Amino acid sequence: MKLKNIIWIIIIAVIGMLVISCSTAIDEYRLEDNYYIKETEKFKFVCYEKDHAYMYDIEQSLKNNYEKVLHDLGLTRKVSKITVKVYPTLKEFHKNIGLTRAPKYIVGKKISEKEFKMVSPNAKGLVHTYEQIVNGVAVHEFTHCITDLVIKNRKVPKWLQESIALYEANQKIIPNELPDSFKEISEMKYNIYSIGYLLMEYLVKQYDVEIINKLLLAEGDIESVIGKKEDEFFNEWLEYVKKFH
Ligand SMILES: [Zn+2]
Repeated sequence: MKLKNIIWIIIIAVIGMLVISCSTAIDEYRLEDNYYIKETEKFKFVCYEKDHAYMYDIEQSLKNNYEKVLHDLGLTRKVSKITVKVYPTLKEFHKNIGLTRAPKYIVGKKISEKEFKMVSPNAKGLVHTYEQIVNGVAVHEFTHCITDLVIKNRKVPKWLQESIALYEANQKIIPNELPDSFKEISEMKYNIYSIGYLLMEYLVKQYDVEIINKLLLAEGDIESVIGKKEDEFFNEWLEYVKKFH
C-alpha cells in the first residue's frame, strides 16, 4: 500500500474517532418522556431541561467527593445507585419536595438513602452561587444519603446530621455572633446551619475523623463517645472558635 493511502486511512480513522467521542458526550443523556436521564455506575442523573451542561459539573463534584464521604463516615459496604434529580427552577423544586412556600435558601433535599433532589445552579433568583449549588448542595445532600446508610434505624439528632453534611460539603460559615455559653445541646438546633461546619471541624481536629462514625452510631451522645459532658464540650468548642476564627 502506498504511503499516501496509509496517511489517508489514518486521517479518516482519527476523524471517525473524534466524531464518535463527540457524539457519545452529547448523547450521554437520553430523553425519556419529558426528562433527560443518564446512568453511571454510582448515580442516576435526572434533569428536566434540554440545555443541561451544569449536570456535568454536578457529576464531577459528586465523583470527586464520593470516596472521601464514604471514608469519613466510615461506610465500608457497597452503596446502591443514588438518584439525583435536578429541577430547573426553585418553584418546580419546591413543588417536588412538597414545600410550595419554601424560602429561597432551601435548594436541596434528601428523599431517601437512594435519592436526593436539588435545584439547577442556573435557576433564577437563587441566593446561592453556581459553585455553592454544584459543590456545596450536591455533596451536602449526598452526605445525608450516606449518613442514612450508616445509621440505618438509629435516631440521630439533626444537629449532628447537619454538621456532618456541612463539613463534608465544605460549607464553611463563620457566624457573626456566638453565644457566651451552652448549657445543653438542644440550644444548638436553632442555628445549626451557621455553626455546624465549625463544630465538626473542631471534633475532627481534636478526635480524628473516626469521631464522625462513632457519634453516628452513638446517636450523637457526646459523653459516651468523648467522655466529656455536653456543656463542657461545647464550651471548649466556643473557646476554639473564638481563638481561631
Ligand atoms: Zn442538610
